[in-house]
Amino acid sequence: MSELSAVAAEAVEIARRLIRIDTSNFGDGSGPGEREAAELVAELLTEVGYDPTIVESEDRRTTVLLRIPGSDPSAPALVVHGHTDVVPANAADWTVPPFEGVLQDGMLWGRGAVDMKDMLGMMLAVARDMKRSNWQPRRDIVLAVFADEEAGGRFGSHWVVDNHPEIFEGATDAISEVGGYSVTVNGRRVYLLQTAEKALRWMRLDAEGTAGHGSLVNHDNAITRIAGAVARIGAYDWPLHLTPTVKTLLDGVADLTGLSYDPEDRASIIPLMRALGPSSAFVEATLATGANPTMLGGGYKANVIPGGGNAAIDMRVIPGDEEAAMATIKGLAGPGIEISEINYDIGLEVPFEGDFVDAMVASITAEDPDAVVLPYMLSAGTDNKALSRLGIRGYGFTPLRLPEHLDFAGMFHGVDERVPVGAMEFGVRALENLLRTA
Ligand SMILES: [Zn+2]
Repeated sequence: MSELSAVAAEAVEIARRLIRIDTSNFGDGSGPGEREAAELVAELLTEVGYDPTIVESEDRRTTVLLRIPGSDPSAPALVVHGHTDVVPANAADWTVPPFEGVLQDGMLWGRGAVDMKDMLGMMLAVARDMKRSNWQPRRDIVLAVFADEEAGGRFGSHWVVDNHPEIFEGATDAISEVGGYSVTVNGRRVYLLQTAEKALRWMRLDAEGTAGHGSLVNHDNAITRIAGAVARIGAYDWPLHLTPTVKTLLDGVADLTGLSYDPEDRASIIPLMRALGPSSAFVEATLATGANPTMLGGGYKANVIPGGGNAAIDMRVIPGDEEAAMATIKGLAGPGIEISEINYDIGLEVPFEGDFVDAMVASITAEDPDAVVLPYMLSAGTDNKALSRLGIRGYGFTPLRLPEHLDFAGMFHGVDERVPVGAMEFGVRALENLLRTA
């Protein structure tokens, strides 16, 4: 800790204080909510002279908003956003208590250390430094610290976009989580900038059938029908669909490793995945649409055939493939299955080019000159989906220079979530570079 700059040390301390506030989001409203964390965020901003706005979609579902004027009033605003909620943690599974913000082995440990109280610490420390040291970003910065990202943003980003769109007026770009971190490919550090997100569609499947005695012949058994649908969907091999983002990434990895691949041949891509190390789990899920059965129910007694059965499917769709994917699911489910929607959100993909992308790349290479920056697609979703409804292009840009063997992809929602404090030092410098120049 002693070698950290004052801004980095503050970023770590803010992240630590936020981890100590349990903001578990169970997705059913039963959690503590985000108010306490939002109040800390607002207090940290107010303390240095800002005037943030606190809004609540529902009791304790709290978001903090602040617009910081830039030096160039003609430049479009940039949204820098994060979320205070976290997924729950089962303390018994952890090496350290998940809500204490333990500093150990050069790492900050705790639920939210990477998703995403680390970035909140970095954002807030840089914003506080801006005010105290009296430097201005070029563009207006809209700082948004949302509630409810982990349950899809209905009480956070989507609600703010519906109810307070004026705060984002004139904004064209946004940066936030799950991108900008480094992986090591063939000895070179590669920063993965997130430029795309899969769409998500959570579905409920209902099978109907003829109820009756378990001893009789029954060719209209709802349990057989739902089990068949689930098995076919779960086992389906979705065809490869490499979008421009994924192709650019694979081409970059091919260049760095000397490997070649055939975009039509999954087997040829596997060695490139291996070269990406632990983070290949993120990338592998973006080669094609995917659908996982996640729930299965039906019946109430061993000798009674029930009249219905049900299941849930979590489908993550390559952007633009939504209609074709639904047709595939319907075909796999077969007759006698009704499909209804639990949740849907759009996919996103923006080009890996342009002035703002160049500025993000330059902000990283200024601190790590030999680094390569490549785009990637996130198989999950972020609050960028909500902001895209206002025409704002969102990127995953939480710059972190990580040690080679850290399984960073496994930290998201994982046990023993932790972030190297040195990575956060790198992050505050890269973030400041970006805000000064972009
Ligand atoms: Zn997150």
